[in-house]
Amino acid sequence: MRPPVLNPLFADAASLPGVGPALAKALARIDLTRVRDVALHLPLGWARWKRVARLGDAAEGERIIVALTVLAHQESAGRGPLRIRANDADGAPVTLAFFGGAGGYAAAKLPVGSRRVVAGKLERHEDRWQIVHPDRIAEDEAGTPPLEPVYALTAGVTNRRMAAAVAAALKRAPVLDEWVEPSMLARHGWPGWRAALETVHGVPDAAAARDRLAYDELLANQLAWALVRASRRRRRGRALQGDGQLTEALVAGLPWPLTGAQRRAGAEIAGDMAQRHAMLRLLQGDVGSGKTLVALIAMLTAVEAGAQAALLAPTDLLARQHRAVLEKMLGDLPVRLGFLSGREKGRAREATLAALAAGEIDILVGTHAIFQQGVAYRDLGLAVVDEQHKFGVAQRLMLAEKAEVPPHLLVMTATPIPRTLALTAFGEMDVSRLDERPPGRTPVVTRVMAMDRLEELLEGLGRHLAAGRQAYWVCPLVGDGDEDEAAATARAATLRARFGETVALVHGRLPGPEKDAAMARFAAGEAGVLVATTVIEVGVDVPNASLMVVEAAERFGLAQLHQLRGRVGRGAAQSSCVLLRGLTLTATAKARLKMMRETDDGFAIAEADLRLRGAGEMLGTRQSGEASFALADEEQVARLVGAARDDARLLLERDGGLEGVRGEAARVLLYLFEQDAAVSLLRSG
Ligand code: ADP
Ligand code: MG
Repeated sequence: MRPPVLNPLFADAASLPGVGPALAKALARIDLTRVRDVALHLPLGWARWKRVARLGDAAEGERIIVALTVLAHQESAGRGPLRIRANDADGAPVTLAFFGGAGGYAAAKLPVGSRRVVAGKLERHEDRWQIVHPDRIAEDEAGTPPLEPVYALTAGVTNRRMAAAVAAALKRAPVLDEWVEPSMLARHGWPGWRAALETVHGVPDAAAARDRLAYDELLANQLAWALVRASRRRRRGRALQGDGQLTEALVAGLPWPLTGAQRRAGAEIAGDMAQRHAMLRLLQGDVGSGKTLVALIAMLTAVEAGAQAALLAPTDLLARQHRAVLEKMLGDLPVRLGFLSGREKGRAREATLAALAAGEIDILVGTHAIFQQGVAYRDLGLAVVDEQHKFGVAQRLMLAEKAEVPPHLLVMTATPIPRTLALTAFGEMDVSRLDERPPGRTPVVTRVMAMDRLEELLEGLGRHLAAGRQAYWVCPLVGDGDEDEAAATARAATLRARFGETVALVHGRLPGPEKDAAMARFAAGEAGVLVATTVIEVGVDVPNASLMVVEAAERFGLAQLHQLRGRVGRGAAQSSCVLLRGLTLTATAKARLKMMRETDDGFAIAEADLRLRGAGEMLGTRQSGEASFALADEEQVARLVGAARDDARLLLERDGGLEGVRGEAARVLLYLFEQDAAVSLLRSG
């Protein structure tokens, strides 16, 4: 149950004075549905205005506030603007211009003969002062403060209306008992929660207040993780020790030896799994470093120990690819693979669920469907999560419910996640690194080509296909799914016109079976070119594909380009990656493409990407479907999350958990940031 003190904050935004149904609907478009959301909608920045007595005190281009006397309204013929003539205190003339539908509203606000205070950008037009669409019009100086918070907006919500809604929401915000450690507050000079909230909306230089609110959010996150950890500790894990029968047979059947890094990571994982508490390990390794094999060995260890294992992939496509790869690697080993995604329905799904519950499936591969409610394992011992940039508290709890004792967990990622971000996205984990690529690979040659050399590229592609090789052609990120789809479809059509039926197409909107069919044709070598949106970004493995074309490469993130490039260079043949770029590029775009040409080091690229784009975007919401933080920015996460983790730990382990006075306050914090799932651990634990 949510603490009653928070009720006013969780009321509908529509309950705020001045927020009618239309405004409420507009606010909901940017996820401001409750009073809490509006109160926590922090300003993006501040607009500063210069207050002047006369127009002559300001320069062209300045944003000013000035008192004017309205002289006349001049409608223009047809659809021209409404011009309102006015004078300043010295009688200097200025024109206020209103275009389109704004005229009626302006005429009412600026009656002839009235004195009004106007804020706007001062311009010159035909030798006269002019202000086009003043930002504010008020009856007196009090209505136009020289500093104004600027909020993120949406259609139908002006900044003024947003500010009014925020002010109304602030009035509803209660004073809450302090959950931050007193010494921490003192050290940073942080205000209390309520005061901090008012400060960030009220004054521009509110660094301490902003930090405090960011810290609150991080503390809630870290408390949730600490609760997960504590509950895991109460429920001891299960030691899984294999007898080596399956893993040794697997390795013996491989055409090549494990790399040193694979061996090391494998030993670390086996060591963890043999312990009587659940493993939490992150396996980081650049694209192509061979993570799948490491995961398979871990899963076989679980199977040897009599347990089941599950492998979670972010998309249906990748899950299917994983199944195909595992099937191939397993050969005729006595291991039963199952598959489950959102697309399995009816009988087939029932049969899989029954087999899983009966223990007739050893390894289940699939999408999020594999941890959903109603999916029961007979004995899940290990979960492997591939390429999820976040496996948050809620997901972790869902997983924990799948077994008597918490299963071991291995998370795999090709993106070198900074430790601070890993802390918030996955909780505290041990890390294994695959810092060595399998040998026998020829490095991928990367070239940047401008779009005006398309013909040359197509001729090259023709020769490539004639030599029996395959190629990917990745289409630009245009916008939403529809546009991406249109771009890919159009490109596939032009390539088909030239090369015929050897061109296959996949994009996110294609019906599942068609996607599978296209991928299968490409994997089997029946299709020579796979035109795709970024659905192929991670995981796809077709060794004969030795050319990767990325169209409008400047629109992609570096880490993303690196992932795409990692799709080739998997066989013995010399592979290349062509980054097709637009004709005009910004300096940054040039620098980024140059970086791609010059280095193949995933860590260096991730670092540069982080610098150029920011961590939030690097981890992205693209795959996880979850935003990171609403209040804390990346810099604050990096600076404050360590303290939040320590504070959360101290509170739970030393300061009496959530029972004491500060504990009660912390419970309120968890509800405020909607970590209710973690709070439930307290009861069940
Ligand atoms: P990623 O780490 O990107 O998931 P994969 O697991 O898909 O990489 O492996 C990339 C490719 O390397 C696959 O074709 C796989 O069969 C191959 N591979 C994995 N381990 C080795 C090894 N030790 N020696 C040679 N090739 C390997
Ligand atoms: Mg992979």
